[in-house]
Amino acid sequence: MTDTTKFLIVGGGLEGLAIAYSLADRGETDVLVLERDTLCSGMTGKSSGVVRCHYGTPSLAAMSWYGVDIFTRATEIFGDDMAFRQCGYVVGVAENNVKPLEANIEMMQGLGIATELIAHDKMAELWPGLNLDDFALFAYEPLGGRGEAYMAGMAFGATARRMGVKIRQSTPVVSLLQNAAGRVYGVTLADGSEVHAEQVIVAAGPWTPALVAGVGVDIDVKAQRAQLVLVDQGVPTPEVPVLSDLAGLQYICREPNGELLVGNSDHQAPEYIDPDKYVNRADDSTIEKNIMKLGNRLPDMPDPRITSSYVGAYDVTEDYNPVIGPSPVEGLFLATGFSGHGFKISPAVGKLVADLLIDGKTDLPNVNPDDFRFSRFEEGDLLLSLNPYEGAGEMR
Ligand SMILES: Cc1cc2nc3c(=O)[nH]c(=O)nc-3n(C[C@H](O)[C@H](O)[C@H](O)COP(=O)(O)OP(=O)(O)OC[C@H]3O[C@@H](n4cnc5c(N)ncnc54)[C@H](O)[C@@H]3O)c2cc1C
Repeated sequence: MTDTTKFLIVGGGLEGLAIAYSLADRGETDVLVLERDTLCSGMTGKSSGVVRCHYGTPSLAAMSWYGVDIFTRATEIFGDDMAFRQCGYVVGVAENNVKPLEANIEMMQGLGIATELIAHDKMAELWPGLNLDDFALFAYEPLGGRGEAYMAGMAFGATARRMGVKIRQSTPVVSLLQNAAGRVYGVTLADGSEVHAEQVIVAAGPWTPALVAGVGVDIDVKAQRAQLVLVDQGVPTPEVPVLSDLAGLQYICREPNGELLVGNSDHQAPEYIDPDKYVNRADDSTIEKNIMKLGNRLPDMPDPRITSSYVGAYDVTEDYNPVIGPSPVEGLFLATGFSGHGFKISPAVGKLVADLLIDGKTDLPNVNPDDFRFSRFEEGDLLLSLNPYEGAGEMR
């Protein structure tokens, strides 16, 4: 038996579900999401959920700012708060990165984003006990913070379902169907059945390249290893902002239970993994490095101990920015390569994709959809930060 649908989304992670919701929100409910496993069981489940607008790429900053608004109103819109906690977000830099910090803040303020430069005294108030010696300047986003990517994905999915979208789990797509003219017109499932669609949208994270290669689309998305370490300071950490420590090249977030989540911001020597087969804990040398850096930043932790660690994979492109738009093959649309930015921009990704599919353009403020085009790599016109940070790679 062959099913048909107008929009077929491959991948029931955060982005696929955000797209499904946004299509339904625009009145397009003939939408089917196919997820090979369970919803949000891919890299969404590994997300740190940090919400910041601090980017050197205006479109990305603007998409994050749109996300802040949606997360703030999540209960009203979705009946679920997506666990968004507006604890604030701070970037701290050493002397070498003061100029890009100032330039980025000016650019973001020009987009209307609530962010400001702050000095040591204000930072000491925001996070007492933090060693600020090697920082030169900070930028503060009072409306930033953290959410829960899994909950956000499930809220998008549940709302989309209520609006009429169909979602099938345990349904791996084995291949894309292509006609003689080269147009993608559907997918084949593991049981041999087909689903036909006007548009196939692949939002399959790091699994995207293998799937689209079957129809001759060559996209360079790698699975970059991210190792996360959880630390109990010995006493619960009080509510503090998320800290992006560009002097120590780490980020530190308070967990809801008062522990600290410590991640790496040094992407100069990336390691790649098979997203289906990897060791799900940080290695000893990473743990040691993280603890040294954390110990420098928080020298007075009363009785620190590591409580856990895990590993995820960022789906990274060459310029650490996503591909959102039509592929070179008719009928196939891509939303992939989120490169560690995918949570905060997910509400905007959903809207951008729905707008492009329905109208061919978007009214998302300050977002240029062309920035995310597939062809930028072969054109050699990468989407790079206007004001990159020394040592931090392109993930900023
Ligand atoms: C460790 C880590 C920390 C992060 N921290 C942050 C952060 O602090 N802030 C932020 O903004 N972003 C962050 N991100 C990024 C963000 O979480 C991701 O960009 C986002 O969750 C990815 O969603 P996705 O839907 O694109 O991919 P995924 O969640 O991986 O979903 C893809 C889905 O496709 C399914 N699939 C694959 N192949 C097939 C197939 N053939 N058929 C059917 N289904 C298929 C998979 O099972 C999976 O469920 C982080 C990411 C990681 C890994």
